[in-house]
Amino acid sequence: MNLYSKIEDNFRLLEIQKKALKRLDLKSVRDLLFYFPTRYESFSERKNIDSLVEGDKTTVFGKIIIMNLQKTSQKKISLAKATVGDMTGTINVTWFNQPYIAKILKTGDKVALTGKVTKNKSGLLYLANPIHEKISSYDSLGEGASILPIYPETRGLTSRWLRFTIQKILKSVPAHELQEIIPEEILKKYHLPHLYSSLIYIHTPQNIKDAEIARKRFSFEEIFFIQLQRLRQRLNLKKKSSHIIKTTKKDLNNFLKIFPFKLTGSQKKSINQIIEDFKKDEPMSRLLEGDVGSGKTAVAVAATYVVAKNQLETAYMAPTEILAQQHFKSFIDYFSKLNLGIKIGLITSSECRKFPSKVNPNDSTPISKNQLLKWVANGEIPVLIGTHSLIQGKVKFKDLALVIIDEQHRFGTKQRMALLQKKTERIPHLLSMTATPIPRTLALTMYGDLDLSLLDTMPLGRKKIITISVPPEQRDHAYEQIRDEINNGRQAYIICPRIDEPDPEKLGSLNLKAVKAEAKRLKKEVFPEFEIDMLYGKMNPKEKENALEDFRKNKTQILIATSVIEVGIDIPNATMIIIEGAERFGLAQLHQLRGRVMRSSYQSYCFVFTESNSQKTKDRLKALEKAKNGFELAEFDLQFRGAGELSGMKQWGISDIGMEALKNLKMVEAARSESQNILNDDPELKKYPTLAQRLSLFKNDIHFE
Ligand code: ADP
Ligand code: MG
Repeated sequence: MNLYSKIEDNFRLLEIQKKALKRLDLKSVRDLLFYFPTRYESFSERKNIDSLVEGDKTTVFGKIIIMNLQKTSQKKISLAKATVGDMTGTINVTWFNQPYIAKILKTGDKVALTGKVTKNKSGLLYLANPIHEKISSYDSLGEGASILPIYPETRGLTSRWLRFTIQKILKSVPAHELQEIIPEEILKKYHLPHLYSSLIYIHTPQNIKDAEIARKRFSFEEIFFIQLQRLRQRLNLKKKSSHIIKTTKKDLNNFLKIFPFKLTGSQKKSINQIIEDFKKDEPMSRLLEGDVGSGKTAVAVAATYVVAKNQLETAYMAPTEILAQQHFKSFIDYFSKLNLGIKIGLITSSECRKFPSKVNPNDSTPISKNQLLKWVANGEIPVLIGTHSLIQGKVKFKDLALVIIDEQHRFGTKQRMALLQKKTERIPHLLSMTATPIPRTLALTMYGDLDLSLLDTMPLGRKKIITISVPPEQRDHAYEQIRDEINNGRQAYIICPRIDEPDPEKLGSLNLKAVKAEAKRLKKEVFPEFEIDMLYGKMNPKEKENALEDFRKNKTQILIATSVIEVGIDIPNATMIIIEGAERFGLAQLHQLRGRVMRSSYQSYCFVFTESNSQKTKDRLKALEKAKNGFELAEFDLQFRGAGELSGMKQWGISDIGMEALKNLKMVEAARSESQNILNDDPELKKYPTLAQRLSLFKNDIHFE
């Protein structure tokens, strides 16, 4: 069997199987080999029929004596019923709803049946829904092995078919065709099995330890490759040149005075790190990571200023229009203070603006996109802030020296790279910003190519948000507290999981609060004395902007919104957030939402409501109440929810097995130091041709050339 041949050329497939394989993107024989079980069921060893007791999970080898197809009287469920016998006795076997079994297994067939021994009403033992395999002799190992791999459930592909097919492949593919890619010395050092053995272990383990060590190998492999790839990109990038950007201490310090607050130590440190990077001829790749509200924008403003002073350009990309507009306004606020004459542009799909306007030097004015692009292209507008619109082909810069990506986790790699490729002759410096608290292991892996600046101190005077998970009977009490705060001059967000009233047809969503209905209800029944407004994704950009502006100016006291406000919105006077239907949001998202209200020195509150009574929801909300910061929450998510479920995890492009590694800091660190060692010693990977080849196949490769 050729590893790279198509599955359908080697196995007869039903239409439904073909579809399922396509859905899973499994094309070649090799793909199947690398399709791993998600878990294992363990059975005790093979048993004789006369020694079976209720509750045994075991494998019985025997001959089919009788096979019948019946239907239950009331529900018309089909029952395939058999009697199976070995040298010691007989037992009944029942398969529910699998009528085809009666066609496959015939009287006289020898079979291995693996399943649970159950007692029926009359006290007789039977095997319920066992996994079956026809065998040629009773010595056959077959699926009677004590550990049974279970593959991800999917329509059209049974675990059984996968087991069977993969075992066939394993038997017919010679070991030497599966070339080892991890260097021998690394395998030895960490006691990891070779590729071929690992495949055998992972698909047909004789015991759980085998399966575990094989999984460890594959998860190490994945993390190791990602790191190697990132580090190598980093090395390549370092060889490229970018703009040298200079500044003097005096000038910078002078500029920093524009902020109405004292910068935190970590803000200053981050700015200095950026300034140091700017002095070099190689492109900066820096991640500015700081919890929500830690003040990343100020750092970005300072970096932008320095670049503009050097007559060079900055592109600042934000994930939403609302956020782009907000940044545009803050930049104007700050830059207009010093009368620097630095022009700033805004580009989104619904409007373009330029600052300053001719009429009012303290304000911006709408302009046509063409005009804006012209000015950006000839360098007249050195600061361009925008959404995805920034990465469209038409946008050309004169001397793009700095790319800033806000909330970078919201962008795919491709979008980020598109912006970096908007280079002129040189590669722009990159400042990537994120508040997504991700576990350290994930950061080490995915950001291996970035230098890290950490905003680990909050601006002075911030108080920890008081998070309260409110039981239903306390709802009114919470409303009273909110009323008091609003009467003291503060404002509140209320987050609902939906925009419209739920569809009553859809079971289970009946209780979910909807923005529109909630706005009506609160105005009528709870807060008639306050102005209440709404904000949700489907509103048009102007409506959104107006809603936000009114809230910013405290014309409205309560803003009822969907999670559109999740990223970046900064309105310090809003100190309360009420989250309805909290079970609907991931922990990271809840934390982001809550981050909307820790932006001032007032005490802020997060009231969380949930319709769910499940233990999982309770545990998660407890973690939200307790966690000191986003990182603690991320670790909680990783340990308790399972890595694959981590909100937003899919975007990282790590497989489930790779995710297993992320629970293991030691393993991730080992992968990192090994990839560093290899590259230090042999940056071109001349000694590792298979590694080099494998890396060149990596998808999503980032090309700076
Ligand atoms: P994030 O890191 O979430 O993007 P922002 O940059 O939006 O945070 O800053 C959050 C709020 O904190 C803003 O209102 C900003 O003006 C304010 N801020 C930033 N730095 C400081 C500081 N050093 N002291 C006081 N307030 C600050
Ligand atoms: Mg921000």
